[in-house]
Amino acid sequence: MTAKIIDGKAIAARVRQEIADEVAALKAKHGLVPGLATVLVGEDPASQFYVRSKGRACEKAGIYSTKPLLPENASQEEVEGLVRELNEDPSIDGILVQLPLPRHLDDEAILGVISLHKDVDGFHPINIGRLVMKGRDPLFVPCTPAGMMVLMDEAGAEIEGAEAVVVGRSNIVGIPVAGLLRNRNATVTICHSRTRDLPGTVRRADIVVAAIGRPQMIRGDWIKPGATVIDVGINRVDDPTAKRGYRLVGDVAFDEAVEVAGAITPVPGGVGPMTIAMLLNNTLTAFHYRLQRLGLE
Ligand code: NDP
Repeated sequence: MTAKIIDGKAIAARVRQEIADEVAALKAKHGLVPGLATVLVGEDPASQFYVRSKGRACEKAGIYSTKPLLPENASQEEVEGLVRELNEDPSIDGILVQLPLPRHLDDEAILGVISLHKDVDGFHPINIGRLVMKGRDPLFVPCTPAGMMVLMDEAGAEIEGAEAVVVGRSNIVGIPVAGLLRNRNATVTICHSRTRDLPGTVRRADIVVAAIGRPQMIRGDWIKPGATVIDVGINRVDDPTAKRGYRLVGDVAFDEAVEVAGAITPVPGGVGPMTIAMLLNNTLTAFHYRLQRLGLE
């Protein structure tokens, strides 16, 4: 059996087009567009790259974006002050503080200052709390986990009642996606570095989520035949035949797992492209909150 490949790139492109169409229609109707502020502190090259990509994606979707930049040595008060200003800015619907922040800053406190209605990354402690509590809805769901759920649905995975195994318990991926799966009535097991029998646990799963950051750790013979495999991992491995000297692989041994799984995300081109699509989607949701406040919806 060869698994269906879940084409995150194509799905993300479709979602982004749908968002662009809705933004254009709302602009025509109200003369207003959504606005996103991506706050960057310091000059980390990876963070700069992510912020630029988000800005470009906004532009393509017709979303206004601004990229306030603070120096590496900005104080806690300065960063919190900037977030407060953005909270008050009527043209800004979404505020994203690019993580990781420089080590001297308290990121939890900064995320806690973001207005709940502008928390498009979904990392405000109250939004996360609502996500993991039974029967409470967050205003926003973190982008990568939200994108993973879209991919599962697109693959036709039956989530209700399924055994789902999430490998990884980070605040940005593992914990929220486990909450989302549980909210959709899957029976969820969360594995981590102290899990005793990882292969045996993964073998029970109808849905496997790999969010570890270890190249190709999950082998094909850990996968239950027909399972849906969502691989979040992005790992560089040396490859002298590649132009850059490396290639990207996931946390799952794709070539093995593809022979056993029912559906699987590739790396790259699986979960990765969904993150920005979901950020745009959350920004559009935040814009709807603004339109509601203005009495236009
Ligand atoms: P973290 O490093 O924060 O978390 C990794 C998790 O994996 C931890 O819970 C850790 O356990 C667990 N783990 C580590 N080693 C093992 C092991 N040997 N066996 C079982 N569990 C283990 O990573 P993130 O969640 O931030 O990211 C995971 C991967 O996803 C990375 O490759 C990252 O690049 C990628 N990523 C991709 C995104 C995208 O596509 N848009 C977005 C975010 C991340 P413990 O808690 O015990 O330490």
